[in-house]
Amino acid sequence: MEQLLDSYGRRIKSMRISITDKCNFRCIYCMPAEGLPWLTKAAILSYEEIERIARIAVSIGIEQIRLTGGEPLVRRDVPELIRQLRAIEGLRSLSLTTNGILLQQLAGALAAAGLNRINVSLDSLVREKFAQLTRRDQLGRVLQGLEELEKYPSIHPIKINAGAMRGYSEEEVLDFARLARRKAYVIRWIEFMPLEADQLWRKEDILSGAELKAIIEAAYGPLLPITNGDPSETARRYTFSDGIGEIGFINPVSEPFCATCDRIRMTADGQLRTCLFATEETDLRAVVRSGAADEDIAATIRRAVLNKELKHYIGDKRFKRANRSMSMIGG
Ligand code: SAM
Repeated sequence: MEQLLDSYGRRIKSMRISITDKCNFRCIYCMPAEGLPWLTKAAILSYEEIERIARIAVSIGIEQIRLTGGEPLVRRDVPELIRQLRAIEGLRSLSLTTNGILLQQLAGALAAAGLNRINVSLDSLVREKFAQLTRRDQLGRVLQGLEELEKYPSIHPIKINAGAMRGYSEEEVLDFARLARRKAYVIRWIEFMPLEADQLWRKEDILSGAELKAIIEAAYGPLLPITNGDPSETARRYTFSDGIGEIGFINPVSEPFCATCDRIRMTADGQLRTCLFATEETDLRAVVRSGAADEDIAATIRRAVLNKELKHYIGDKRFKRANRSMSMIGG
């Protein structure tokens, strides 16, 4: 199997593919209330184009693909795309990041199509706060979607990604801890990053993983670290002292994990990004639409990976904001 290496010797194994920039939520830390100018249908990659690029990427070393957006499930026939990607030889893991609102209708079809992992973003378990954060009063539907997912054990684990923000999240940390113990959900807290269209981010708003962990440990006693041994794992993972439940902390701001980053991303309009905070992109769509052969597309991906950024500089004078919001990049 070929390996995809960057110029710092990092092995790139994971690709996040955004399949739409549209979203049915308007999370305050991501998109403005009125939305953003959406990409046209012609601008976004077709499923055939996505499948082709994914197949070539897997043939040169990508092992895991995660579909994201925008909200990926607002695009039509996502199970069909899952089925096409599932058939790629050498692909080890296919997952999806969603806000969960359409899972009640789609969980069964996603499982049948071969999805094996899922992340559901859920920042609050309190209806009013959820509505304030997402600008949509839809907590009930997301929770129902999660319950629906539980019927399909082939999609495992069910991860819940909760965004941590000072002033919002502290009082819910223990409720999320209880959820992790009561249900087969793995909880991941993720620090707020400067990627929102409204440019609200301030360093003071960061509620670090260490602070969240301290709140949980004050109630439950010391958490026990767990790992699968993969150095590119982004989360610091823990279980409780009785071994029931899993909570993890993804700390891109307080403890950047760039040194072990194994990821690249492709936007819905086919721009390859080698860092979440990249200020430059590689136009794979233009290459694909120019009639390029598979080998030329592979060479374009390899070249982009060789230029992968050393690190992001959040919190440092050298930091430059990315030229797109999280919803346009694909979180
Ligand atoms: N709509 C899907 C969802 O809600 O999971 C996928 C796309 S969304 C952009 C992916 C993830 O990015 C969500 O978990 C969201 O909380 C996270 N996100 C968006 N803006 C962020 C920011 N400024 N800092 C940290 N995470 C952010």
